[in-house]
Amino acid sequence: MGDEYFTSYSDLDVHRLMLTDEPRMKSYKNAIDSNKDIFQNKVVMDVGSGTGVLAIMCAQAGAKKVYAVEASDIAKLSEKLVKENNVSDIVQVFNTRVEDLDLPDNQKVDIIVSEWMGFYLLHEGMLDSVLVARDKFLKLGGRMFPEIAALYASPCSLPDLYKFWTDVSGINLSVFGNELRKSKSNQPDVALVNAEDLLSEPVCVFELNLRTLQTEELNKFSCSRVVCANKDGLYQGLCIWFTCTFPSPIITDQLVLSTAPFSQPTHWKQTVIVLPDEYAVEEREPLAWEINLTRSDENPRHYNIQLTMLDPEKVAHAVPCNCYMTKC
Ligand code: SAH
Repeated sequence: MGDEYFTSYSDLDVHRLMLTDEPRMKSYKNAIDSNKDIFQNKVVMDVGSGTGVLAIMCAQAGAKKVYAVEASDIAKLSEKLVKENNVSDIVQVFNTRVEDLDLPDNQKVDIIVSEWMGFYLLHEGMLDSVLVARDKFLKLGGRMFPEIAALYASPCSLPDLYKFWTDVSGINLSVFGNELRKSKSNQPDVALVNAEDLLSEPVCVFELNLRTLQTEELNKFSCSRVVCANKDGLYQGLCIWFTCTFPSPIITDQLVLSTAPFSQPTHWKQTVIVLPDEYAVEEREPLAWEINLTRSDENPRHYNIQLTMLDPEKVAHAVPCNCYMTKC
């Protein structure tokens, strides 16, 4: 199972997708370059270094040593890229799982950089490996890039799954649309959602602080919320997305990689949990739901995501409640 996962990362097209994802590349570059003071003369580990781009960025930002750890065969190519960019005296590639790595003299690192995020943040379960690396290699007080990761959700309309099928070149394909939605209700769908199709303000499902997070905390997430519809619309699914926040030298200036519908699209797109039926909602109507993400027993790199619609009248929520008030 694990080997299959790493084989997928030997595929050049997988890396091409990531390397051409502009918001992803820019966020890491900006986070590393804005923190040159932190990187200067430091020892860095890039967990899951792939082609080595992040390791090279760290070397260019002034790190004195970068350990680039990559389990898949792409590691061999990354050695050539490191050479080509004249940082082979700084970047050292280890073609191994980080879990199997030992550094000479039990050396520790000052900073861990990693791009471990999957669809809906947790898919692929790579964060576990980053935490193993943190606990084994990061110095006390060391920094994590990114440092905070958060998952958000908002009820939404899905016109591509609903409205579109009522008129395809003048033909009513609603029955096809129904079947398609049924197939999508079994598992989350990865799709781009339009910002204007969100039906409420985003809610934070959970926030993870990578400096303190423990692996066991990743086994199950549960969140129930009452939100207020901010427009009339058709409630057809729950849109979920994530953000990652990097350490920032200026407290007021947040360095965030956002995969929200209202941010520039990334290869992660958004994840949608499609409802079996649509519901017409009115502006200011309370919508209550519960989402559970549970790590799959069969494949720990996957999660089962369950969405339950709740009766807003019966859900205990924050007091004073503002779901019926003008504020929402
Ligand atoms: N850092 C690169 C690649 C990110 S994709 C970039 O930003 O472009 C994640 C990479 O981590 C993949 O290449 C995958 O093979 C690697 N990886 C995942 N788990 C790992 C582990 N436990 N040890 C080493 N490499 C790992």
